[in-house]
Amino acid sequence: MIPANFPLLPGATLGVLGGGQLGRMFVHAAQQSGYFTAVLDPDADSPAGRVSHHHVHTDYLDGDGLARLSRLADAVTTEFENVPSRALASLAGDVPVAPSADAVAIAQDRIREKAHFVKCGVACAPYAVIETAEQLSAVTDDLLPGILKTATLGYDGKGQQRVASRGQLGAAWMDAGQVPCVLEKRLTLDFECSVIVARGHDGQAVNYRAQRNLHRDGILAVTEAHEECVPPEIAKRAAEAALSIANGLNYVGVLCVEFFVLADGELVVNEMAPRPHNSGHYTIDACELSQFDLQVRTLAGLPLVEPRQHSPAIMLNLLGDLWLAKGPQATEPPWAQVLALPGTHLHLYGKQEARRGRKMGHLNITGASVAEVRATAVRAAALLG
Ligand code: ADP
Ligand code: MG
Repeated sequence: MIPANFPLLPGATLGVLGGGQLGRMFVHAAQQSGYFTAVLDPDADSPAGRVSHHHVHTDYLDGDGLARLSRLADAVTTEFENVPSRALASLAGDVPVAPSADAVAIAQDRIREKAHFVKCGVACAPYAVIETAEQLSAVTDDLLPGILKTATLGYDGKGQQRVASRGQLGAAWMDAGQVPCVLEKRLTLDFECSVIVARGHDGQAVNYRAQRNLHRDGILAVTEAHEECVPPEIAKRAAEAALSIANGLNYVGVLCVEFFVLADGELVVNEMAPRPHNSGHYTIDACELSQFDLQVRTLAGLPLVEPRQHSPAIMLNLLGDLWLAKGPQATEPPWAQVLALPGTHLHLYGKQEARRGRKMGHLNITGASVAEVRATAVRAAALLG
């Protein structure tokens, strides 16, 4: 249903639950179009809170904080998958909220998420739900070697354990505190890709072409986005699957669906994120509309248009390790040399402390051709060590 006061035009205030880098880039996009912004985040020094017009500095479930946010904002979205869906549900009584608490709750729970994929007819890796000791002993051997993943609160590879035998599986479930988990068969991946969809209140949806993702230690390291990185036929199937997953949720907002591509070309859905995604950061510099522009449009009820890509792109994630390469004392990477390379766009999130594995920023690389972009990425990566 489209809220009565929509579309919200520039001058309105857009709210976001969560103040991390995704919230910061949402705030930048909203402000560029003349919106005011309000961020709710428990951290006084959050990346988004520091650049927003309003910063409500409370826990996500704090009643006063949520009431303040709903008074400040004309519509509210979320940027962090693990913001409790109850916070969105409670706001929805007072102010339009997108995506819905229901959609976020499904994406936050791997058990419900996989059931949704199955319902939409999209294949996922063979898996078993493990919530009880009986389910643990009923696991069949064909799921091993596998990966045990906690049903909730995992990200960047956290909450996951590789298991090769039943003994290891039992120990891993004990180690996880016997919380609800899924055991997934470990697949041999040819590569990984993702599709970002934006869907409006009226059900209209647009998407970016599938981009190819390289992970290191469970964390996204590199995204490549151009015609050559995902074969057209696979890109088409991935887009269709992502759209059916979004439609099946009656989703409003930006949704990212991650896929595995197997050696025989089979496409397997991995997981979804109910928000813009790290693998879509290249859209800021390589597309007419970024994933954050589309988040603003879906939230405000503005028209969605195909977000055409005008340049091939590669994104390099910048983790805290780069700052700690010379020892425990953080030193700034050689930005002046990196920025001397044509086509480099540096995005830093304003985080004060560099820690290993912490996402500090990303470098987008654009250029006239795929070969040029790849050559620049190699040179930038060499400078960054
Ligand atoms: P997170 O929520 O931490 O992103 P994912 O389920 O996406 O968790 O797993 C992180 C990465 O681990 C994936 O991008 C992929 O590289 C690898 N991975 C996860 N599940 C499997 C699997 N079943 N088979 C092979 N690799 C996997
Ligand atoms: Mg993932």
